[in-house]
Amino acid sequence: MKVIDHIKQAKAPLISFEILPPLKGKGISAIYNHLDPLMEFKPAYINVTYHRSEHIFKKRSDGSFEKVVIRKRPGTEAICASIMNRYNVDTVPHLICGGFTIQDTEDALLTLSYLGIDNVLVLRGDAAKNETSFEPEPGGHKYAIELLRQVVNLNNGIFLEEELKSVNGTKFSIGVAGYPEKHFEAPNMQTDLSYLKDKIDAGAEYIVTQMFFDNKKYFDFVKICKESGINIPIIPGLKPITTKKQLSVLPRTFYVDIPTELSNEILKCKTDADVEIIGAEWLLEQSRELKKSGVEVLHYYTLGKTHVIANVVKQLI
Ligand SMILES: Cc1cc2nc3c(=O)[nH]c(=O)nc-3n(C[C@H](O)[C@H](O)[C@H](O)COP(=O)(O)OP(=O)(O)OC[C@H]3O[C@@H](n4cnc5c(N)ncnc54)[C@H](O)[C@@H]3O)c2cc1C
Repeated sequence: MKVIDHIKQAKAPLISFEILPPLKGKGISAIYNHLDPLMEFKPAYINVTYHRSEHIFKKRSDGSFEKVVIRKRPGTEAICASIMNRYNVDTVPHLICGGFTIQDTEDALLTLSYLGIDNVLVLRGDAAKNETSFEPEPGGHKYAIELLRQVVNLNNGIFLEEELKSVNGTKFSIGVAGYPEKHFEAPNMQTDLSYLKDKIDAGAEYIVTQMFFDNKKYFDFVKICKESGINIPIIPGLKPITTKKQLSVLPRTFYVDIPTELSNEILKCKTDADVEIIGAEWLLEQSRELKKSGVEVLHYYTLGKTHVIANVVKQLI
């Protein structure tokens, strides 16, 4: 079932979880171990992130270097299918521009459609680890909106091969990313919002936000989205802080602020076990306030912290 239909049919805020494919070699059991304790909360759907290949330089025995392409977390499409099969729950694979030609994208979309997957979260993806800024694959998309238009075309039965006519289209419900604290490359919030609005006008049905730790940032974002004519569900993305190190890692990686009240409490902690307690309490308070405000879905970035998320959701519902 489509995310947007889950939202339309819901009588109360839904819960969704986001997971990463396991590191290569860990096996699908890593996903099941992670998800088993979360399934009692009846998530409406589960998102699975996509991770592009990286280039590394490997030293040869003669001292020269060889460029090697590695993918640490492959298998997004197959993991979605495995999760649907095991838990009978809908999945939302993330689909990115980076590393894909438009032909690769079409093939990936067809694979997802054949697997019975009705949803995609359409993203540009970040720069590859060895690049300073995002570089599209030659013959690939530069911005998420271009990828989104390809999905919409395929939904309308328009394939890359123009001679394919009167064929069955796909049926994807499309979500896109939104940034309550602005995407880091955008010159200002209004410009970022105008590109977000373009994605909605092109067919996106809901927005999932970057993580945030201050609900005011989310509420302000919803308000300016509405003022800009964006009237689709804006699903808050939520994550617990569980280590002291994240006080610097999260702002550096995701360009998000950590409120002083929270960072002060975390700085007082002696161990990461203490940080986890503070982070969970904060997440619970954020979730309660968002739930009360009437959000359609609470979307949790689980990032390997099953027990923390499980404790928070248990107290919330
Ligand atoms: C909920 C969520 C899930 C994510 N999951 C993944 C994942 O699974 N895998 C992954 O690699 N990354 C993921 N990301 C990270 C995401 O790929 C990055 O944040 C990326 O830098 C931007 O993606 P986007 O889809 O927002 O890009 P875009 O919408 O393309 O925007 C990128 C930048 O370009 C600007 N822009 C947009 N359109 C145009 C245009 N037409 N002309 C000029 N400028 C434009 C925007 O303002 C923005 O600054 C996720 C992010 C979020 C919020």
